[in-house]
Amino acid sequence: MVPAADFSSSSRPISLIGLDRNELEAWLLALGEPPSTVRMRARQIFHWLYARGARDPEAMTTLPKDLRRRLAHEASLARPTIVAEQQSRDGTRKWLLRFADGQEVETVFIPEEDRGALCLSTQVGCTLSCRFCHTGTMPLVRNLKAGEILAQVLVARDALGDWPSAREGRQITNIVIMGMGEPLFNYEATKAAIKLALDGEGLAFSRRRITLSTSGVVPRIEPWGREVGTGLAISLHAVRDELRDELVPINRKWPIAELLAACRAYPGRRPITFEYVMLRGVNDSDADARELVRLLRGIPAKVNLIPFNPWPGSPFECSSESRIRSFAAIVEEGGYPSPIRTPRGRDVLAACGQLKTSSRREPRLRTTVAALS
Ligand code: SAH
Ligand code: SF4
Repeated sequence: MVPAADFSSSSRPISLIGLDRNELEAWLLALGEPPSTVRMRARQIFHWLYARGARDPEAMTTLPKDLRRRLAHEASLARPTIVAEQQSRDGTRKWLLRFADGQEVETVFIPEEDRGALCLSTQVGCTLSCRFCHTGTMPLVRNLKAGEILAQVLVARDALGDWPSAREGRQITNIVIMGMGEPLFNYEATKAAIKLALDGEGLAFSRRRITLSTSGVVPRIEPWGREVGTGLAISLHAVRDELRDELVPINRKWPIAELLAACRAYPGRRPITFEYVMLRGVNDSDADARELVRLLRGIPAKVNLIPFNPWPGSPFECSSESRIRSFAAIVEEGGYPSPIRTPRGRDVLAACGQLKTSSRREPRLRTTVAALS
């Protein structure tokens, strides 16, 4: 196979994180590795990077000494810097990460009894501006590169001591692409990162345990299903176009009917998750719940009811518990499981976008590790 990347003019040291085996091969060839061994060396390095979590070429003990030395000079295995870390009473951990150019994103780990989900960011900020979302108040600064999306998994595994990748009892079992940004507006980088996460010789995540959440970038939904094939979550939040136009403005471009048609055509037979944030007096009536059931007819689905997580200055309130319960009852009766998500990490503002913004307002947070448990 012809290697995709041309490393002849790359600046040094080059970050190896985010390179797949073909790209590693191309880079090793450019470094002078003989063609006869390049395949094996790329495979070994891949294993050290993603299966073992090596942070230093010296740890790659299956490589010859001189190659390790060259790697130390020419390659970087550096992770983004952890600028702040918070741990919630419920075990949720949240890291604010800074990349080499100073841009920051956050990554959240949510442990449950028998599994743990890592929530990844794909952009610094977001081009969309959903009214209830804190990330939506930040302008898009840039897309993350594949290596920067993937490095979030490595940092979390480092912090949790969760290496090697393929073993019983690993803490991070699931990935949810639900952090900052709209992943389908950073399609190629997100795809490259998730393909690497799925590689059985590397991070070894199971396709069934990765879910991409989108606000509804309709033309990208089918390609994602075909080319990557993870679970799909849709940020629906409203059942009428007039309201969804306001709450999730991308709806003006791709309205509910088009979005649901894309869901019906999504490759694979797994249920699609519909996320529905409960906003008091806005989208939480019994009539809304009945309309939701009607809209979803024919789509294998589950509805996640998310209590609205308020942030300073947010224009909404969360629905009452009893309102959420009666909404859930109608959706359940209509044949769709509708778990009410327990708010996680509220004491560390784990709703997307909040650590980043609070660190801006309160510079001291940058250097403190606030363990609140
Ligand atoms: N951009 C993608 C993925 C990131 S947002 C998307 O919109 O799907 C991940 C989920 O968190 C979305 O369902 C979003 O609607 C929800 N969310 C954002 N802000 C929230 C808040 N303040 N309270 C509860 N859920 C929120
Ligand atoms: Fe962007 Fe998703 Fe937030 Fe909307 S909900 S502003 S798409 S991150």
